[in-house]
Amino acid sequence: MTETRIIQKASLGELFLRLIAEGRRVVAPQRDGERHRFCEVKSPGAVALDYVQTVGSAKTAVFPRHEEMLRYGLSGKDVQVEELAPQAPPTVLFGVHPCDAASFATLKAVFTWDSADAYFEPKLANLTVIGLSCTQGDAYCFCTSVGGGPGDTRGSDILLTPLDATRFLAEIITDKGQAIVKLAAELFKPANGASEHEAPASAKRAASEHEAPASAKRAASEHEAPASAKRTASEHEAPASAKRAASEHEAPASAQRTASEHEAPASAKRAVLASVVPRFNAADVSSRLPALFTKNDIWVEQSLRCIGCGCCAYVCPTCSCFDIQDERQRDGGVRMRCWDACGFSLFTLHASGHNPRSKQFERWRQRVMHKFSYQPERLGVLGCVGCGRCSRSCPADMNLGEHIQSLSEPGAQATGARSAEAHA
Ligand code: SF4
Ligand code: SF4
Repeated sequence: MTETRIIQKASLGELFLRLIAEGRRVVAPQRDGERHRFCEVKSPGAVALDYVQTVGSAKTAVFPRHEEMLRYGLSGKDVQVEELAPQAPPTVLFGVHPCDAASFATLKAVFTWDSADAYFEPKLANLTVIGLSCTQGDAYCFCTSVGGGPGDTRGSDILLTPLDATRFLAEIITDKGQAIVKLAAELFKPANGASEHEAPASAKRAASEHEAPASAKRAASEHEAPASAKRTASEHEAPASAKRAASEHEAPASAQRTASEHEAPASAKRAVLASVVPRFNAADVSSRLPALFTKNDIWVEQSLRCIGCGCCAYVCPTCSCFDIQDERQRDGGVRMRCWDACGFSLFTLHASGHNPRSKQFERWRQRVMHKFSYQPERLGVLGCVGCGRCSRSCPADMNLGEHIQSLSEPGAQATGARSAEAHA
């Protein structure tokens, strides 16, 4: 049962210090020039909660960019192997938006579908998520089209919603969340205007205005079950044109209503959430995609600008592809796994020289099919939470939300004149 409390903004620093004092690693958004990034943070003053979206996602807490698996030493013909245990310190993700919180269900479905991944699972088990509802969005956000919402509680152990300049509504959702409250019980005050123990159903009603329509909610349930291109995502800025587009759609903080002290928690939350209008129905898109697989002209048209840099995968909270590489040094080496991306031309290159996805449009199609068709069908989860990072960071100004929306429209069935061979 979800419990609702109020915590003062001024008390968040104290909560943060108690988490650190208990020996937890705290990962939170930090300002970096005009952007925000998730980093390990040691001081509450370094946390910056006033953000629309970070550049990279919070998945690094459970799936780091690179991770050492074993070390080996060579001595003549002798090989000494040292297996490296997974690093899984107790970690709190502080201030992640609902889309990132929802992404852990997708990652979990991938990393535990046949057997539990030895490096992923202990990190997830030791992770507590303190989410932060969105009071502002931009033109790239489409969480409500994939079953999420700006106040969605899924994936969070506690969800904070800023009600006004001084107060946060705290929805305590899981036992992990209750354990955080016990650390600093006096900071979590009873919520006014409603019972302290609000049932999840009423909390859901509160979010419903901003959530996807019923049909999109079917898709939502799919989330519930649960290096040649070594440039990092952080180096890719959204083009100026995209930035202008984003700012036009951003809800200025001053335009947002704040909640009165006596308002019931559910309606107080509803009053401050960002408005993200659904753009497509993910379940409908999933059902249409198999028939569109062979419509090469659609995929060519969509991917003409794609340069295969892989940035979209590196910033994505749900992308989970990795490669395992040995880095040999003179007397030994290290085996590590590191992020990979289906947009890279080398991703499917066989040792024979054959490449089953030799053209960029085939790689783009794979990305869309994997997220919106294969994963829902095989794992019961969508591979997208609508965070919009891929589009914000794409150096070629590709926009996944727009492309998926176009696939959901009747015109997507039509064939065009462009040849697939034109986009090798
Ligand atoms: S869609 Fe954009 S970010 Fe993704 S591989 Fe293509 S050019 Fe790079
Ligand atoms: S595909 Fe794009 S919008 Fe969807 S979760 Fe990944 S980065 Fe976010």
